Amino acid sequence: MNGIKKELLKKRDELEGRLRSITRNVRHEDNPLSGDWREQAVQRENDEVIDALGNEAQRELEQINQALQRIDSGEYSHCSDCGEEIQKARLETLPYTSLCVQCAAKHEASI
Ligand SMILES: [Zn+2]
Repeated sequence: MNGIKKELLKKRDELEGRLRSITRNVRHEDNPLSGDWREQAVQRENDEVIDALGNEAQRELEQINQALQRIDSGEYSHCSDCGEEIQKARLETLPYTSLCVQCAAKHEASI
């Protein structure tokens, strides 16, 4: 369990670093908006891509924080839906899942 927590903390640092650089990019601190409107259009398109990356990193960060909370409260290896133990192999491949295989399949089917 400590190994997983360490992994998650490492991943969290990594994501926080990524988010910081994404934020810098969006604010154009390193790369101010061009005076040329055509170039500006390209830069704004880039912003949208960067924004999407930022949202993705943000979502992942939330999942990691939730997993860390679950580790601290001792609920980590239990499915948040049915309360059954989550298979160890599953946690190794998806360290921040909160659902067992059966419940995850059920959730996917209902989307
Ligand atoms: Zn379950």
